[in-house]
Amino acid sequence: MTDTSDPIHRACDFYALSGERDIVVLNKRLHSQEVWSRWPDFLVAFASNGCGDYFAYDTRQSPASIIYIGPDGTPEEQLADPEALRYDSFDEWYESQMERYTCSRCGSREVRFEASKDRQWLLRVCPACGFQEQTDAIDL
Ligand SMILES: [Zn+2]
Repeated sequence: MTDTSDPIHRACDFYALSGERDIVVLNKRLHSQEVWSRWPDFLVAFASNGCGDYFAYDTRQSPASIIYIGPDGTPEEQLADPEALRYDSFDEWYESQMERYTCSRCGSREVRFEASKDRQWLLRVCPACGFQEQTDAIDL
């Protein structure tokens, strides 16, 4: 997953063992006094939507499950919240992140997003099979 050509890098900020998003540096910080609410040792952040939120491994289980830790509230509060976003495995998390980037006809993960000609819709366009589908309305 350190492969920067993996399509997951389009879906979120993915942290790796090398490069500008260093997973070791990130986790040192989250587990230190530098953050307002220090993370417990068993949580290991590995991805973010880029707004102070993280997807983290909960290493108390093997294989580790994944929990979403948002920017509001402490990790402990969110761990205790039955409504928190959770995934049973990395594969389940990966598929959930890639859903939006996957062509529903051929399964290609190279889809692009473009405005429709009348600029009313965001289209999902698949370069592999040519399939286009409407996604969200564009708010002007
Ligand atoms: Zn396709």
